[in-house]
Amino acid sequence: MNYKNPDEHGYYGEFGGAFIPEMLYPNVEELQKNYLEIIESEDFQNEYQDLLKNYVGRATPLYFAKNLSNKYNTQIYLKREDLNHTGAHKINNALGQVLLAKRLGKTRIIAETGAGQHGVATATACALLGLECIVYMGEIDIQRQAPNVARMKMLGAEVIPATSGSKTLKDAVNEALRDWINNSVTTHYVIGSVVGPHPFPDLVARFQSIISKEIKEQLKEKIGRENPDYVIACVGGGSNAAGTFYHFVDEKEVKIIAAEAGGHGVDSGKSAATTFLGTLGVLHGSKSLVMQTADGQVIEPHSISAGLDYPGIGPFHANLFQEKRAEFFSINDDEALKCAFELTKLEGIIPALESSHALAVLDKKKFNEEDIVVICLSGRGDKDMETYLKNL
Ligand SMILES: *Cc1c(COP(=O)(O)O)cnc(C)c1O
Repeated sequence: MNYKNPDEHGYYGEFGGAFIPEMLYPNVEELQKNYLEIIESEDFQNEYQDLLKNYVGRATPLYFAKNLSNKYNTQIYLKREDLNHTGAHKINNALGQVLLAKRLGKTRIIAETGAGQHGVATATACALLGLECIVYMGEIDIQRQAPNVARMKMLGAEVIPATSGSKTLKDAVNEALRDWINNSVTTHYVIGSVVGPHPFPDLVARFQSIISKEIKEQLKEKIGRENPDYVIACVGGGSNAAGTFYHFVDEKEVKIIAAEAGGHGVDSGKSAATTFLGTLGVLHGSKSLVMQTADGQVIEPHSISAGLDYPGIGPFHANLFQEKRAEFFSINDDEALKCAFELTKLEGIIPALESSHALAVLDKKKFNEEDIVVICLSGRGDKDMETYLKNL
């Protein structure tokens, strides 16, 4: 079985596809027809790879964490996505999609954002490449994430509040989709994770796959072999995890572990652990696992980390879960917090709260002394200082 790529209709096993209103067909079809040819072209790759190197700061280091390794008695390598420009993996995708939009002749970019990280990455790419940028954000999130709202504005983006429903991420997605329908000729919608209608999950996974491509090259150089024993990443929608797993999913000997946000606990009613709590459903244009009531109403998720606070999971990951190709752990808020402080103390690296969920797998699973364990450190913790200070 090929886990990496969807079929021609965008399905990973039974998950994926494009469930969209008829008015969105022209936009989505235009992308489906053109995305692979454009992003695989030499011209595109030359510009994209140059920006990744000289603007984003890639390759990011694969750092052998000696002190953490001693503590857990195994060989731990951290993939340092926190060292990217704008502080996380999201810029890999935002830059790629804005470059693609330019080649499709678009002049206007829209995006949705929850915590603001994807909004900042998209606004950054638009400032650099000279496109108009509109970011939809729930009214409540705008209040909660003031520093990122300020960044987006300074970068020249217009931030439009979503005032319907719960006034959070899923409402911002609805507003963005409405905008896209009304402005299909001029506008590209930069989706921020491996979610949405085909081809977005594949498109975003390909842009993030640079993470596992580099891991392979760096391991080869450091330990003489390309494949680790384990790769571990946190999953919100699943883009940093898709990037970390991409070049390993079809390599049988590599074990794959995903960390979801358990919130206060999977049975607490305040959780975002989609594989534990979700059922088959359609959310934001694709069929996947969704946290929903028996009559299909989306359940509000909870996580201490805004980036994992999402009631679904990308179809790529739903398939890995269903096929038991990946092992899923649910990490609670307090467990993630503990690991954030632990990494800071042992290695002098303040991780994002999201990434701390991946680190917390070290407490849940016993690894052998000689195991090579690669963990994706998806972002840095600057944005989470308020939460960390409250818990010092
Ligand atoms: C947004 C974000 C995530 C979650 O998004 P994925 O698409 O699941 O990767 C994880 N880590 C950081 C640092 C983020 O900013």
